[in-house]
Amino acid sequence: MASFSILSAAARRLEGKVALITGGASGIGECTARLFSKHGAKVMIADIQDDLGLSVCKDLDEKSVSFVHCDVTNETHVMNAVDAAVAQFGKLDIMYNNAGIVGLAKPNILDNDKDEFEKIIRVNLVGAFLGTKQAARVMILNRRGTIITTASVCSPIGGVASHAYTSSKHGVAGLTKNVAVEFGQHGIRVNCVSPYLVGTPLAKDFYKLDDEGVYGVYSNLKGAVLRPEDVAQAALYLGSDDSMYVSGHNFIVDGGFTIVNPGFC
Ligand code: NAD
Repeated sequence: MASFSILSAAARRLEGKVALITGGASGIGECTARLFSKHGAKVMIADIQDDLGLSVCKDLDEKSVSFVHCDVTNETHVMNAVDAAVAQFGKLDIMYNNAGIVGLAKPNILDNDKDEFEKIIRVNLVGAFLGTKQAARVMILNRRGTIITTASVCSPIGGVASHAYTSSKHGVAGLTKNVAVEFGQHGIRVNCVSPYLVGTPLAKDFYKLDDEGVYGVYSNLKGAVLRPEDVAQAALYLGSDDSMYVSGHNFIVDGGFTIVNPGFC
């Protein structure tokens, strides 16, 4: 678990901001909640894992980090999560659509069934759509906000993960570009972050990696296996005013993987 040292007020890059992070109970989302909190943000964690989410709040400052149960595939849940952030902290500056699942590894499309495909699309892509839509509902009124979605290196290339996962992450990158154009006039920036393999429960389960092995195993693909902190730092940049004029980007954080393997498929 990442722990971040205390910063001086001047060094805090999200002072006064309010963030909602889906999938904030574990992995990249949890780490981002910790980093955003360290940088002065009030954070609402939205997740289906209530116990984990609540324990992150306890571990941080319960006055500035809160939890709401939210299944990102359910529009009412997502709307309630946005409203909970606004009710508790007064506004919403940063929406981080991070919740995601990887599903089963079935490299041959003939082995894939429609239900599994739809399940992954619903969480990864429809979830990002609903989060973007519901966040925009309140951000447009303030004429300000930044929306970030966790995509993946599977968003610009193919052949790394399942058809469903790759399709969902290509979709997220497309959604980001379209909405960035649409929302520019409202002062809302929209970007996604695309990590290579990150040592989180999702990746460790999927690749059957142990804690010790995880950071070296895929180095033969010439990509760095990341720590959740590496992705959280990218989200911090996109969430802060440091990226004031950055919108519509797919911010790839992969140690060079997609450059070295441009035609992976
Ligand atoms: P993780 O499993 O540690 O965290 C994912 C979180 O999402 C969990 O807390 C889970 O409860 C939550 N979640 C799942 N379904 C949900 C739903 N329907 N509603 C609300 N919350 C839900 O995994 P992670 O690696 O931190 O993944 C975070 C994001 O990063 C995902 O979008 C994933 O696709 C993406 N990503 C991960 C990697 C990697 O290697 N770990 C690489 C690229 C992209």
